[in-house]
Amino acid sequence: MNFLILNETGLATARRLQTELGGVIHGFDKRVKAADVRPFDDAAAALRDCFASGQPLIALCAAGIVIRHLAPVLGDKHSDAPVLALAEDGSAVLPLLGGHHGANVLARRIAKILEIAPAITTASDTAYAVSLDEPPQGWRLANPSDMKAFVAELRAGATVQIEGEADWLRAGDLPLADDGALRITICDTPLQGDGQHLVYHTQNLALGVGCERRAAADELIQLIAETLAAENLSPLSLVGIFSLDLKTDEAAVHAAAAHFDIPARFFDLAALQAQEARLANPSEVVKREVGVSGVAEAAALAAVDACGGGLLVEKRKSQRATCAMARADDIIDPTMLGRPRGHLAIVGIGPGRADWRTGAAEAALRQADIIVGYGLYLELIADLVADKDCRAYELGEEEARVAAAIELAASGENVALVSSGDAGVFAMGALAHELLDRDDTPAHWDRVSLELLPGISAMQAAALRVGAPLGHDFCAISLSDLLTPREVIVRRIVAAATADFVIAFYNPVSKRRRDLLALARDMLLRHRPEDTPVILARNLGREGEQVRALPLSELQVDDVDMLTLVMIGSSETRARMRGDGSWSIYTPRGYAAKQTALTEEV
Ligand code: SAH
Repeated sequence: MNFLILNETGLATARRLQTELGGVIHGFDKRVKAADVRPFDDAAAALRDCFASGQPLIALCAAGIVIRHLAPVLGDKHSDAPVLALAEDGSAVLPLLGGHHGANVLARRIAKILEIAPAITTASDTAYAVSLDEPPQGWRLANPSDMKAFVAELRAGATVQIEGEADWLRAGDLPLADDGALRITICDTPLQGDGQHLVYHTQNLALGVGCERRAAADELIQLIAETLAAENLSPLSLVGIFSLDLKTDEAAVHAAAAHFDIPARFFDLAALQAQEARLANPSEVVKREVGVSGVAEAAALAAVDACGGGLLVEKRKSQRATCAMARADDIIDPTMLGRPRGHLAIVGIGPGRADWRTGAAEAALRQADIIVGYGLYLELIADLVADKDCRAYELGEEEARVAAAIELAASGENVALVSSGDAGVFAMGALAHELLDRDDTPAHWDRVSLELLPGISAMQAAALRVGAPLGHDFCAISLSDLLTPREVIVRRIVAAATADFVIAFYNPVSKRRRDLLALARDMLLRHRPEDTPVILARNLGREGEQVRALPLSELQVDDVDMLTLVMIGSSETRARMRGDGSWSIYTPRGYAAKQTALTEEV
């Protein structure tokens, strides 16, 4: 969560809350000076950034300021993150947005800490001390679109009769009457409901599934839907889809989970074997194959084991899939059962600047629970991951770093592995794939879900600083001889030189290796004019960025370090200094800009 403060009074209040609630404090640079406060100089931008992060935002300032600045970026009420206005002195707290996404709950917590009354304004919350459109975990509202009409009648004085059991409903102040004109039904059978009738489904049905490798998602979804219909059960009563850990990466299981909007969780073999005696349809064939006599029934039973309950729907089969359902005696919390499929996002964070990161990369970092990366890169994204579990590694520990990230994801965690630039360019992406592809790769490693998020690579950043040197054919060569034999590197330099590519040299020098760059320059001088433009781009997008341009004949190895990207133009690359002193270095696309060449682009 984020706190936003404009002055020292706000700081004291925010600190009081931060000790209890955690979170990051953002302070107006001119008025708040404190080492642990993230500074900003534009309140409107800071408010919008915090809001865009999707995390709860507590703004210690006038509600009007928040409303005015966030108005242009508001989404719809179902997706907005919680936003609260809090008086600087802590005397009033007002949930402005996301009342049903936790803002009301958060306002109540804050009010309790500050010993004040929260200013809750959502209709059913204030009047009836119960949140009808945000039932507690374990219940799902079947007809949310009827809520408005229902609450309107309630406000007009109608009474309510409740069918079924739900403590939270009876604990509120709803005007209950056995002959109420309004009805609320709690059940696990499919029911329509309307503006005078709300239907809540208790989430106490555990769905166990099994299927053959790469079974079609549609087949599994159809089998589940038909089974629910045949048994007169509502899909909204499903609490989770459960299976054996061998199936952790089974696409059909995840597609079904997404279809029914429930989590997919996986048990190890021992947990399923513990259910052997309770299976209604044990199969010797299945036992020989996977070690337990029925995956679907055993998984459903394992899910309800802790809170009591039994098999409700015995195994049903389609051609390549099976499903079964168990009913729990109580509400189930699926996050406590088995493991989810772990996720590894391999994220390119660009050269360094926050505004050179892609939206997708930022979203992946925000969603991850654990961030793994080289210490310097973690500092570059501190604004996004400060309150997360960050695991910093030293340079040179690449394999250990990637292996640790994969192992964490394989144990069910949601992990982001961070690379500078693009994660697929001389970076962790290929190493991760390689580690998953070895003969001795542990089987559970390859079951993680893997996602690569794009980043701006150093050569793109270097190019845009001086013009468009990559406007025609180019290549990238790493001069690091740690993993590539020198002969191979030299052969590639010769090939690039003779083919007249623009060349981006990554890892141009190291402390130990300084000769390859000199060799490259000398070889290139045999094929290109002495005044071929060279770009030395150091610390791009980071503090102390330096970008220089010079003729190839003047390239000195001592001007280059490990943090530099060296780009050498082709024989066609032109360099011109513009009137304002900036560079215009570009490689035209052809000798003559013919119409055909231009139309190709679009
Ligand atoms: N994945 C990265 C490359 C990592 S290899 C990317 O796509 O950019 C490391 C080399 O990249 C460095 O030796 C340097 O040559 C180059 N590099 C990476 N970040 C840089 C930056 N911010 N400024 C200049 N060069 C950079």
